[in-house]
Amino acid sequence: MYFIDVIIPIPLKRLFTYRVTKSESDFLKRGMRVAVPFGKSKVYTGIVFKIHNDAPTAYEAKDIQQILDNQPVVNEKQLDLWQWISDYYLCTLGDVMRAALPNAFILESETNIIKNKEKTIDESELKDDEFLVYDALHHQSSLKIHDIVNILDKNNVLSVINRLLDKDAIIVEEEIYEKYKPKLVRYVKLNATYSAEASLHQLLNDLSRAPKQRDVIMTLFSVSAKTKKPIKVTDLVAESGASSSIIKSLIDKGVLEEYHIQTDRVQYSGEENEATKTLNAYQEKALVEIKIAFKTFNTTLLHGVTSSGKTEVYVKLIEDVLKQGRQVLYLLPEIALTTQLITRLQNYFGEKVAVFHSKYSSHERVEVWNHVLSNSAKAQIVLGARSSIFLPFKDLGLIIVDEEHEQSFKQFDPAPRYHARDTAVVLAHMHKSKVLLGSATPSLESFFNAKQNKYGFVEIKQRYNNVLMPDIELVDIKEKHKKKLMRGHFSDRLIEEMTETLAEGQQIILFQNRRGFSPIIECNTCGHSPQCPNCDVSLTYHQYRKQLRCHYCGYVSVMIKNCAACGSSELDNKGFGTEQIEEEAKMLFPDHKVGRMDLDTTRGKYGYEKIITSFEQQEVDILVGTQMLTKGLDFRNVKLVGVMNADNMLNFPDFRAHERSFQLILQVSGRAGRTDKRGKVLIQTYNPYHNILQQVSTNNYVGMYKEQMDDRYNFKYPPVYKQIKITLKHKDFNKVEVAANWLAKSLRLFFKDNVLGPESPPIARIRNQFHKNILIKIPKQQSLVKTKEAIIKLNNSFFSIKDFRSVKIILNVDNF
Ligand code: ADP
Ligand code: ZN
Ligand code: ZN
Repeated sequence: MYFIDVIIPIPLKRLFTYRVTKSESDFLKRGMRVAVPFGKSKVYTGIVFKIHNDAPTAYEAKDIQQILDNQPVVNEKQLDLWQWISDYYLCTLGDVMRAALPNAFILESETNIIKNKEKTIDESELKDDEFLVYDALHHQSSLKIHDIVNILDKNNVLSVINRLLDKDAIIVEEEIYEKYKPKLVRYVKLNATYSAEASLHQLLNDLSRAPKQRDVIMTLFSVSAKTKKPIKVTDLVAESGASSSIIKSLIDKGVLEEYHIQTDRVQYSGEENEATKTLNAYQEKALVEIKIAFKTFNTTLLHGVTSSGKTEVYVKLIEDVLKQGRQVLYLLPEIALTTQLITRLQNYFGEKVAVFHSKYSSHERVEVWNHVLSNSAKAQIVLGARSSIFLPFKDLGLIIVDEEHEQSFKQFDPAPRYHARDTAVVLAHMHKSKVLLGSATPSLESFFNAKQNKYGFVEIKQRYNNVLMPDIELVDIKEKHKKKLMRGHFSDRLIEEMTETLAEGQQIILFQNRRGFSPIIECNTCGHSPQCPNCDVSLTYHQYRKQLRCHYCGYVSVMIKNCAACGSSELDNKGFGTEQIEEEAKMLFPDHKVGRMDLDTTRGKYGYEKIITSFEQQEVDILVGTQMLTKGLDFRNVKLVGVMNADNMLNFPDFRAHERSFQLILQVSGRAGRTDKRGKVLIQTYNPYHNILQQVSTNNYVGMYKEQMDDRYNFKYPPVYKQIKITLKHKDFNKVEVAANWLAKSLRLFFKDNVLGPESPPIARIRNQFHKNILIKIPKQQSLVKTKEAIIKLNNSFFSIKDFRSVKIILNVDNF
């Protein structure tokens, strides 16, 4: 008897076992895809995880339907990594598979309904049944007809699907076995019979009465003499001016021969590679130190101030690894993956650079996957956001995690809730590869690991070109308000500096943190503010569209004229967002161009690119933006950075708020004065004596680290303790409350005082689901494995209680 254990892309606790024949068993390898039946009528694409001879005891194993590959699409190291992620982050292998494989690899047997990502849908305009289906697509990448039957609890669902199709909200894909289709390009060449000069002359003579066809042949000659490359049909059409029907008749006559070449959708069109830069003394020293550190440590932290030239140091390390014929993974926060950096690396390494980005299409991602899998020259260096840790690397020599402090390396939803930086360290271990973490503002976690001698540590304290660090000035806006020196949200100091900077022809960045401080409408008479009907939050006012929006569930309504509670028409605008700063800047500086960069203005595939490019090319003088602006962008001409209000970041209810504020403000400051002139930064605050702001203004990372670590020790927070957050969700408040109390009590039997909660989070209801959080703190000496086993055991007992079965539980390990 022959069996295989198969991972299927749904969250099942255990792998399912299927029966195979002897010859199938001989043929199959771990990591190949098979189509397997599941439940009454479903078919899934599964990944072979284990090949064995043990029949399952609990059920009769079914036969597989089909083997889909000749070669594994997932290699052994990847399967090991999947297993590690599933164990460490407490999720299923099915969850990992969903996140790891490009969708195009996951075949479906029936009609597939997917969300139309190209279109932004106003969810408030959807009918209830439409919303339910659309909402389900936020959580699942695709739905089958019978899934929708289940969701809506009725059989005739086609009308709903049709309505959603009319609104362009969804796309329906018919039964497609292999979704990925390589892109083929048509080429032509002269038929081999005309290669002899005599026969060619004959041909041209014959064609003298068909001058257009003759022209095509002549063009073909001149183009191929010039480029010495195969000729695309489209190029030939363009060059000769002939119609494609003329080319077709030449093909029909057998004069031209048509052929196809598979090309990549993502292509590098540059020419020669540029030599890498010569490092200055500080960079050179850092490079040598990194190499020495790598002799002892697998992971090394590079703490280099903003604009110290870290990227050029990475480039030298990459060169070395490429010479050994090994692969490089260069991880970046999604937003920092801009053409700026891609071009910079392509100039050095040409087509060896492959980019892996969530904004790329599924087809483009499959191409990168296949290049990496075959260890092709085209993907020696993968530049990618967090999900690129899932690519099928064969032999990694180096992983660079740039801006390693960035929160966006952590996936919050859905599972696997992994942290790409930490996973990269594990991945590197599997490949016997090195990891370089780089940042101007390292996470406390990484700095702590360096201090504890777990990581190597290297510093660069000077900016490239010896440009001074920007001059940071704190502006007390309480004082300015008192003295009536504020115009809107701009202090007299900020206006002065802006005026001067603009007069010098230099650019300005204004930073307004979005989180927790968007404009909210408040009634002057009774103090009521409009609330989201689905979540416990106030709605945010969007001036441009005259709408009120919920940032948690997407609810939208038109701006109200009167208070819903007392009817008063005196409504006030509390708090301020990027939109309002943009408006005010335009009023203050009507002769200058103001741009804005935030979630609203950067939608679409090239959303960021457009704004970044127009700022780079100095079409925009003043750029107003959110944290997006802080992600390692290298602008040449920015002299002034204004932080509109530092306080709302500092007051955010999270134990990492101070660390994050330090990182954000220092990073945004780092955009100023990167070329030759010293930059200037103005930070407006009600609280200029706040320790974090003092540490920011003196660029005192170590001071920040020490003070924050004291808190982390005192309150048992990471990185001193590990922690796991358990979130319970249900639409019935009482049910979630009872369930959370039961779970917390049971957890206390194991973990005593290291269990906190249950607590309602600051926003206790989102999308009509009430939330409760329980936090488990894990001392360093306590076994993580045993802790997790205990949690999983309790989780199982929890779900054996009938009343709790409908409660949803989310486990979040490390909880960044
Ligand atoms: P960081 O990543 O540390 O913020 P970058 O690598 O972006 O800094 O470098 C800042 C600027 O200095 C870039 O424009 C870069 O091209 C330039 N630069 C850095 N090192 C060198 C070098 N060795 N030679 C020439 N230019 C350099
Ligand atoms: Zn009112
Ligand atoms: Zn809401």
